[in-house]
Amino acid sequence: AQTKKKKPDWLRVKLPIGKEYAKVRKLVDEHKLHTICESGNCPNMGECWGAGTATFMILGNVCTRSCSFCAVATGRPPEYDEDEPRRVAEAIKLMQVKHAVITSVNRDELKDRGAEIWYQTVTETKRLSPETTIETLIPDVKSNWDALYRMISAGQEVVSHNMETVERLYRRVRPQAKYARSLEQIKLTKEYGKRTKTGIMLGLGETKEEVHQAMDHLVAHGCDILTLGQYLQPTSRHIEVAEFIHPEQFEAYREAGLERGLKYVESGPLVRSSYHAERHVNV
Ligand code: SF4
Ligand code: SF4
Repeated sequence: AQTKKKKPDWLRVKLPIGKEYAKVRKLVDEHKLHTICESGNCPNMGECWGAGTATFMILGNVCTRSCSFCAVATGRPPEYDEDEPRRVAEAIKLMQVKHAVITSVNRDELKDRGAEIWYQTVTETKRLSPETTIETLIPDVKSNWDALYRMISAGQEVVSHNMETVERLYRRVRPQAKYARSLEQIKLTKEYGKRTKTGIMLGLGETKEEVHQAMDHLVAHGCDILTLGQYLQPTSRHIEVAEFIHPEQFEAYREAGLERGLKYVESGPLVRSSYHAERHVNV
């Protein structure tokens, strides 16, 4: 029989605490606002909300893809809501978010990959909250570079696109994605003039050499910022955790990333791609 791997101590969930957190919590409850921080039950909420950072998802909650680690439902998404850019921008204003991370599902069925809604959401957020900085965590546009340029041209400070794992594991982890295509997207984003960022989950069975190789590829494709965190299985139907990476190994990866030429590496068991995101604006 399979034994379920027990979570090590360093993954124990942090408690949401602090005055700033309480203030944001109250606003979210009062206005019935929706964040990924809450729906994903993220362990970093106390810290992120306390620092004025929160993550929002646009373009619905049904995805055209079926990544094996992801808890979002797969299917044909319904029509998108044209009023969403306004609602998200208002939520960001009401929550007094200082640094907003905006992300979306994949909408491969849309000709523009959702680029117009992306553009409007960022533009509207900047209009209502000019002081708020924005990171857009964008999907794989499947080589529709016009869509990419539309998505990233709305004045956001950081553009991230998550590689999620090393090259060898793509077929199992991101079956509809391609390693080289995601790297190319990062390269074009950099050439366009944006600050670039990506995230990789560890504990899926990757080797150290493979992580180092991914770092070298990222540097060669103009990636500025890398986040490394522990993969946790959302339900038993998702891909299993192969290994819990020790905090010391996370630290070794952080140093290796900087040595290899990345400008900033956020690395630790509880790191999510939007963790400490407010620090990445000035990298
Ligand atoms: Fe929200 Fe991301 Fe922070 Fe988690 S890490 S609380 S999802 S901003
Ligand atoms: Fe989840 Fe994103 Fe993959 Fe869709 S593309 S299944 S939202 S990780």
